[in-house]
Amino acid sequence: MSKRDYYETLGVGKNASEDELKIAYRTLAKKYHPDVNKDKAAEEKFKEINEAYQVLSDSKKRGIYDQYGHEGVGAAAQGGPGFGSGFGGFEGFGDINDIFGDIFDNVFTGSSRGSRKTRAHRGEDIQVRVTVTLHDTLNETHKTIKVPHTKNCEKCNGTGARSGSSLKECPQCKGAGTIQFRQGFFSLSQTCSRCQGAGKMIESPCEACHGQGKVKLNEPITVRIPAGVQEGTALRITGSGHAGSSGGPSGDLYVVIHVEPDPRFERRDDDILVEEKISITQASLGAEIEVPALEAQVTLRIPPGTQTGTTFRVREKGIPHLGGRGRGDQLVKILVEVPTRLNDKQKDLLKELAKSFGETERAKSKDEESFIKKVFGNK
Ligand SMILES: [Zn+2]
Ligand SMILES: [Zn+2]
Repeated sequence: MSKRDYYETLGVGKNASEDELKIAYRTLAKKYHPDVNKDKAAEEKFKEINEAYQVLSDSKKRGIYDQYGHEGVGAAAQGGPGFGSGFGGFEGFGDINDIFGDIFDNVFTGSSRGSRKTRAHRGEDIQVRVTVTLHDTLNETHKTIKVPHTKNCEKCNGTGARSGSSLKECPQCKGAGTIQFRQGFFSLSQTCSRCQGAGKMIESPCEACHGQGKVKLNEPITVRIPAGVQEGTALRITGSGHAGSSGGPSGDLYVVIHVEPDPRFERRDDDILVEEKISITQASLGAEIEVPALEAQVTLRIPPGTQTGTTFRVREKGIPHLGGRGRGDQLVKILVEVPTRLNDKQKDLLKELAKSFGETERAKSKDEESFIKKVFGNK
């Protein structure tokens, strides 16, 4: 299933500012919110809009999306065929007052809503960095990491109340969750500070979470890292972030990959480059050489007359393409090494060779550097 571009979904340009995004999102959300629009298609549309805004309004996620598209932000790395399945983790949508809350800020909620439900909040996302070697990128790998995060307390189901004890009405707002004020012509209502708008308070706090409704965890989690990851690839593990509150979904865990460079290889996208030195005789006569590769070695045939700086391409010996088929190539750049230490016999042989080229020990002009001069220097 192909996903629509998030910018397109919101009808804004790629360079849209935060304000433009906000306005576009609100305009569309107002039109398609299921509280307002009862059309079945509107609900799907609303989810789409929400998802797009969720990513684009977060500069971190927007950056990942700009760079890697849906695959980057949607790369679910944990088990199963989930990789690349997109924003499967987006669940439901908030109360319409949550969406417009910050602009209307309770002013208009005054008399229309007697008591308000506690707002469900999605948990915070967590970002961790995981280091892999260049060799690790050849195959899918699994890394077990420990990420401290919060989870809803199982003992009290996240309510924070000791089992058997009930919630009591908030004495400050008398269960309304809001406090009414009169100000000129307006009747204003504000979220009750004592119960944070819940209208209820815990009579006796849960002993496991001390009334927080959440517990801190540091259990190991295994991350599936697909072959071909690059420096900065972000894998998203839905629901492994911090716990939400009041029934809101958990945030997500982003595993950002750091690929440790291998001093032998230079990575260029999915190709890897090595430099290999050969002697002047190998270059002149041709040779078969062993070149270090990501897996064992590769044998490379150097044709006679190879010049220094020549680059050979060994197909399919690079890094696998992320989420796709095939892999990059290995590029071998040949550097012809001029010997610096020669014994007398070798010198004689080279002088012999030089003679056969018709060279003399003295160069004819400044520009014309003879073979012999290159090898022996000026003397
Ligand atoms: Zn209250
Ligand atoms: Zn608890």
